Amino acid sequence: MSTDADVLILGGGCAGLGLACNLSQYGGRAPRTIILEQRNEYRNDRTWCFWGDDAAPYARLAGHQWRHLRVAGGGRCIDFDCGNTPYRMLAADVYYATTLQAIHANPQLSLHLGHSVVSEPEYTGGVWRIETSQGRISAGALVDTRPKPASAQSPALLWQSFFGHEIETSDPVFDPFIADLMDFPEISDHRIAFIYVLPLTETRALVEYTVFAESPLPALALQKGLDAALENRTRGSAYRTLRSEYGCIPMGGNEAAPAAGRANPSRVHAGLSAGAARPATGYAFQRLQRWGAQCAQALVTTGVPVPQTPDRLIVRAMDRLFLHVLRAQPALAPALFSALFADVDSRRLIRFLSDGGSLRDHAAVIAALPAGPFLKQLFTRKPSA
Ligand SMILES: Cc1cc2nc3c(=O)[nH]c(=O)nc-3n(C[C@H](O)[C@H](O)[C@H](O)COP(=O)(O)OP(=O)(O)OC[C@H]3O[C@@H](n4cnc5c(N)ncnc54)[C@H](O)[C@@H]3O)c2cc1C
Repeated sequence: MSTDADVLILGGGCAGLGLACNLSQYGGRAPRTIILEQRNEYRNDRTWCFWGDDAAPYARLAGHQWRHLRVAGGGRCIDFDCGNTPYRMLAADVYYATTLQAIHANPQLSLHLGHSVVSEPEYTGGVWRIETSQGRISAGALVDTRPKPASAQSPALLWQSFFGHEIETSDPVFDPFIADLMDFPEISDHRIAFIYVLPLTETRALVEYTVFAESPLPALALQKGLDAALENRTRGSAYRTLRSEYGCIPMGGNEAAPAAGRANPSRVHAGLSAGAARPATGYAFQRLQRWGAQCAQALVTTGVPVPQTPDRLIVRAMDRLFLHVLRAQPALAPALFSALFADVDSRRLIRFLSDGGSLRDHAAVIAALPAGPFLKQLFTRKPSA
């Protein structure tokens, strides 16, 4: 049966555009692909940070990088040397422009902006039919990267909510050679909060206030913490806000599911709402790029999309335990994170934080953490938790 496309990608954000960009590299071998995106235009709505050497996807397009990161909390201030895998910041507008250029260069792909998917996809006779705000579209395979509504999400163990402003100050108050990954100024019984500062020049920085809590927080709930962070970091200098970013990332609970046993292999869910983020840290960008490359290859060679590869059992188990400890004993967070950054070899820790790492990386992380809180958590946890 004829269809409008071989592959439909629902949602043209980080995951959808990343997959499409990978498909575009296959030239005429790429399947006929349509990306449906509800927005009418792309704006510089966020920054993606990740650790990577020069070979990492998009590493060379990063606008800034830091070889030194500071983690302050639990009575310690650690200068973490990233070595050959600097912490890089990629502006969303650069990512959008790069991926769109690749997509437009391959006639097999087309991006439909202003197309909102308005009902659940239907599958009949081996064809997916999608109702959009601009009419119906059909395809043989479906990759759904739309965020799930809160009601349809698996409950996360913790939510990472953050709100930040990129600002320009009148006086030189920042050191562009060192970023503050976590600066814990405030701990309460109920939540973990810290300041995150990415200085771009002596007068320009992204200053964010982040909270790990059991439910997602709106930007308004983070405003007070952000104002205090800005006051603290601008040290009395006047400043103006250039742009803002806000986000809520689920941590643990919605990990990617194994591919086997999917009801219909011609459809996959992908992206942040399908468990793309590293549960214990919320980092997702590089994992999304890796998935985009794998899924594109699968679509070109077999015509069937693949979901993100689930983390290994040990990674999932450790992440869950770590998140349970943070949830049950939030006051320990500064000491736990400080111990990780102070005592684990930087290459091992970077692998662990971004993508899981090897068994030896895990052993190094376990060795650095105090055993008490973890044993307590293991022995007090309800079996269902
Ligand atoms: C502000 C912010 C900063 C972040 N920073 C980092 C970071 O530094 N490092 C990191 O690793 N991760 C970071 N993340 C986490 C993660 O990398 C991003 O959320 C990433 O954008 C997730 O990609 P995605 O494709 O799943 O979702 P999105 O990029 O949000 O894309 C989903 C797309 O679906 C579209 N859509 C939604 N509904 C419909 C519909 N009905 N019809 C058609 N289209 C629809 C949306 O318009 C959107 O374009 C950040 C997240 C946020 C929100």
